[in-house]
Amino acid sequence: MQLLLNLDDRMRELADIHQRLEQHFGRQGPYRELDPISQLVMGLIGGKTRGDVSLSAFEALVARFGHWEAVRDAHVAEIYEVIRGVTFAELKAPRLKASLLAVTRTYGALTLSPLEDMAVEDALAWLERLPGVGRKVAAATLNLSTLRKAALVIDSHHLRVLQRLGYVGSRTGIAQAYDLVMPLMPQGWTAMDFDYHHQFMKVLGQDICRNGSPICERCPLRDICATGLRD
Ligand code: SF4
Repeated sequence: MQLLLNLDDRMRELADIHQRLEQHFGRQGPYRELDPISQLVMGLIGGKTRGDVSLSAFEALVARFGHWEAVRDAHVAEIYEVIRGVTFAELKAPRLKASLLAVTRTYGALTLSPLEDMAVEDALAWLERLPGVGRKVAAATLNLSTLRKAALVIDSHHLRVLQRLGYVGSRTGIAQAYDLVMPLMPQGWTAMDFDYHHQFMKVLGQDICRNGSPICERCPLRDICATGLRD
């Protein structure tokens, strides 16, 4: 049933999903809006790690080094020591340093302000050339930071909901899901709308559409969900 919807129907349905989830969960946040470099750092150390653990590591970096230039110029081993609580810290420490160096080499300073004037697609592509930066981190850097661009953050919870709703295939990854869903995002949505949409989908994925067995009988989207209607 879901696959028969055309592009306009899908766009309307996504707006409807957004409204239903807002009514069900209420608005999340407000969350701290970081500067773009801080948001990039948060993304680089946060993958596959609980939010409270990655936030602690982020705050430990700030406490230990004081500013991101000092992290960039530190030895990888020093960075590793501070973030060692996060998953894959041994990979993230060198990638963090390499990314901060790459930004500095490109712009002559540790700043992402030049992305303000770039189209979202160009800014995403630029960020994804940095070591360790995939679509989720790139989109978060653009959307959640003070850059506030209309990029859709899709994490594993959000992706699982999209897969079960039938918007993307069950084996679709985050970057491909982004490419499939972005053209369906309702026209006129602001960067904040994108942020809220991600938060709603994430909470649905965490609380109801869980990894393993979804609790479809509690889901406000069941009547329009490919999986909920089938199971
Ligand atoms: S109906 Fe079930 S499978 Fe579909 S989104 Fe809701 S919880 Fe997930």
